[in-house]
Amino acid sequence: MAVERTLSIIKPDATRRNLTGAINKCFEDAGLRIVAQKRIQLTRDKAEGFYAVHKERPFYGDLCDFMTSGPVVVQVLEGEGAIAKNREVMGATNPDDAAEGTIRKLFAENIEANSVHGSDSPDNAATEIKYFFEGSEIIG
Ligand code: ATP
Ligand code: MG
Repeated sequence: MAVERTLSIIKPDATRRNLTGAINKCFEDAGLRIVAQKRIQLTRDKAEGFYAVHKERPFYGDLCDFMTSGPVVVQVLEGEGAIAKNREVMGATNPDDAAEGTIRKLFAENIEANSVHGSDSPDNAATEIKYFFEGSEIIG
């Protein structure tokens, strides 16, 4: 399998509970390397743009409120099959459905405040990484 890069976001519910390091340990234990990382406050515009694909969904407004409710940590994770591997380490969107040992099972509060985001395809990973990072900020 090829070495890939994927966009990860540690969401406000997790930064609020001081879980950045605990979540990063899950990534590193799974063999994912954090090759870029920054803690930022999302503006409303930036959050709405990021989740534009969900614009018609009933939870879109609440989701954008939540994502701007506190700092997030945006990061690029690199590794063999990093996109699928990260989704596996994250667990299912709803923590009630997430497998034991996954980040969402361990840490998520509910289906919305579910601690992490991860790109779901190579095309989305490329688009999402560009949405937050200049090439020069990613050090593999
Ligand atoms: P992410 O895109 O954050 O990695 P995901 O791909 O597992 O998560 P999506 O279906 O893309 O889930 O939804 C994006 C985000 O919207 C979810 O992570 C969650 O925060 C929120 N969300 C999804 N479904 C619901 C829902 N039914 N009610 C409230 N919030 C939801
Ligand atoms: Mg998604």
